Amino acid sequence: MGSTAREPEPRGERRFHQLSSLQLESVRRRTFASWPSASVDPDALARDGFFYMGEKDHVRCVFCGCHIGAWTPNDHVRTDHARYSPECSFVAGSLTGNIPRTPRTHDDDAGRLYAFLDDYHDSRLAHGRPRTRGRYQSDAVPLPSAEQPALSEFARKDTRRRTFSGWPKGAGAGADPLAEAGFIYTGVGDWVQCFQCSGGIHTWRHGDDPWADHAHFYPYCPFVREHLEQRGGESGVGEDLAPSPPPASSVPSRPEELSPEETELLLHHPIAQRLLSKGFDHRLVKEALKQKVETSGLMCSSLNEALEIIFDYEDSINESLSEKST
Ligand SMILES: [Zn+2]
Ligand SMILES: [Zn+2]
Repeated sequence: MGSTAREPEPRGERRFHQLSSLQLESVRRRTFASWPSASVDPDALARDGFFYMGEKDHVRCVFCGCHIGAWTPNDHVRTDHARYSPECSFVAGSLTGNIPRTPRTHDDDAGRLYAFLDDYHDSRLAHGRPRTRGRYQSDAVPLPSAEQPALSEFARKDTRRRTFSGWPKGAGAGADPLAEAGFIYTGVGDWVQCFQCSGGIHTWRHGDDPWADHAHFYPYCPFVREHLEQRGGESGVGEDLAPSPPPASSVPSRPEELSPEETELLLHHPIAQRLLSKGFDHRLVKEALKQKVETSGLMCSSLNEALEIIFDYEDSINESLSEKST
């Protein structure tokens, strides 16, 4: 293991709304804010599909799940990735949903597409709410409400606490205070999610207060509001306990709907290119992928997922046509 320590970096955006956002290199890169090793460059790790697991110098690949640590200055990220995980689809150059970080001087269509997807994701994260899920660690999307928590099986603190069995020992916040403040552990890095609003937070540092961060990043969460009201009642102070608005963001807000130009850009994704080369209709591919990006904020993660999306989209069109004709 490399012994030279690194200075901690600024943390940047700490929210996440779905685990699959780790497909973005920019999101993986943010997990390295407390990266302790000077032996290997966190930029190179994030570029090669890795995120930081929050413990020692351990990283995991989003695409194959392989887990590597104990880096030394002579290590080369891609060589070790290929050696430990020769089957990794990303290493093999197969189609994935990876969204690389592009230099802002991107002058080809794929570069423009990746820059757009990166900005689109950041804007939704900064200005949108998580779409809550009905199942633990799933990306399916029902609506948030006080009556129906996102992850109702974790409404009790003791059931939330049990999800933390694999919580990294080096993480900045403790499992108990996190569970108390409504969070469950996702099993990924130090990423936790609220059972009620589904809001996610990562990159914890020592001294962070889970309740304060929960209220700061997700002020509309009914669980946070109830907690603040109770605390106000206990202290007997009549002060206004309305949580502060979410952090002011330098990320510009934008409509969720893609413009015709942005939709056209989707066709430059390698997955879209493959679908077109298989003979799928240009317009069908474009509209189905547009719907996918608008619902999830991300491109599909594999060719199989893209095919499912195309067939579902075709079915929905046929259904609405037959409804009209009856
Ligand atoms: Zn891999
Ligand atoms: Zn919440």
